[in-house]
Amino acid sequence: MSGKADPRRAGDGTTNRARLDRGRGALGPALELVHTGRAPTRAVLTAELGVTRATAGAVAAELEALGLIRVDARPGAAAGSQGRPSHRLAVAEDGPVALAAQVHADGYRAALVGLGGRIVATTPGCEIVDADPAKVLGSVVAAGADLLRRTGRRCVGAGLAVPSAVAEPEGLALNPLHLAWPAGAPVRQIFAEQVRAAGLDGPAFAANDVNLAALAEHRHGAGRGARDLLCVATGHRGVGGALVLDGRLHSGSSGLALEVGHLTVNPEGRPCHCGSRGCLDVETDPLAFLTAAGRAPGPEQSLLQQSIDLIRGHYADPAVRTATETLLDRLGLGLAGLVNILNPDRIILGGLHGTLLDADPDRLRAVVADRSLWGRSGGVPVLACALDHNSLVGAAELAWQPVLDDPLTALG
Ligand SMILES: [Zn+2]
Repeated sequence: MSGKADPRRAGDGTTNRARLDRGRGALGPALELVHTGRAPTRAVLTAELGVTRATAGAVAAELEALGLIRVDARPGAAAGSQGRPSHRLAVAEDGPVALAAQVHADGYRAALVGLGGRIVATTPGCEIVDADPAKVLGSVVAAGADLLRRTGRRCVGAGLAVPSAVAEPEGLALNPLHLAWPAGAPVRQIFAEQVRAAGLDGPAFAANDVNLAALAEHRHGAGRGARDLLCVATGHRGVGGALVLDGRLHSGSSGLALEVGHLTVNPEGRPCHCGSRGCLDVETDPLAFLTAAGRAPGPEQSLLQQSIDLIRGHYADPAVRTATETLLDRLGLGLAGLVNILNPDRIILGGLHGTLLDADPDRLRAVVADRSLWGRSGGVPVLACALDHNSLVGAAELAWQPVLDDPLTALG
């Protein structure tokens, strides 16, 4: 090991424990780097943390001892590479998980999500949403608890995504419009009660589904590396928005920021439940698309899935193509206004909006460029969201956050 001391033993005689005590503050940042795929090797981790090689080694060893990451001390050298390859770091494939739950207009789903945003197990989507939030949340938590029993994984906590603005600090679902839940339902408290009733450990969180999708995409998907990330997405019904600034969700003074669904994009358009008319919410969501394409919504699938299938499978049909273009133009108007106000460095589109973008990316980008003040010169990148079930992955991120902030305390 000449000149390259065993990282488990510091050269000046101090023990690993002393190293780690000095490096304890680096445990959370180190875990976040591995979690988000930004530290694939110990050499990168050392450089990113700005610590000595020995401290980075001790930090990685402690995270491995906690069952969170795996350190491969003998990676195969890449062909033609010089010198000894650095230890490879990866999230532990059999490590703890977060219980994630999502409720939307057409049903609910539970999943177990490990570090790295990896969905370990998921229930089939259920297609009934009771008007009583306690019943729905009890069912989805029970489904998640069953997954935990079957996989034998340790649970760090639980997160819930709902299709409603969630007012902070109380955790109230203010406008669960398509769920028939009472406005202002205390969803976080109800969810936490169901989690405790199921005998699960760890804290419980709840937030808006598009906020959570944006958080997941920023950490693991199409938003990685963006500094001012704007996300606009349809749910199964309606349209939401989110903004991630320097890695953190911007949720406003009481959790209600980025209600982009009520930008007017068609002054003569259809009435909106907010009291206005022609909002992005009712002009560019799956129901709006099916209506524009002259298709009656069928009962057999969600409106979102019917819309996506129609664009992907029948784009040659002039009615489908025209409806796509109409919605892209309206969406582009809304995005142009948001670009003027927020000056994002990237826009990601989820739900039906991602599929609309894929159908004709040039058209949407042209509308945004033509209609925005800086669009002509700036050319903000517009991408489709990349993760499956990004709201579920984001719900898990909420539950993982205390571990990312301080692994020893959260798991100790
Ligand atoms: Zn509206």
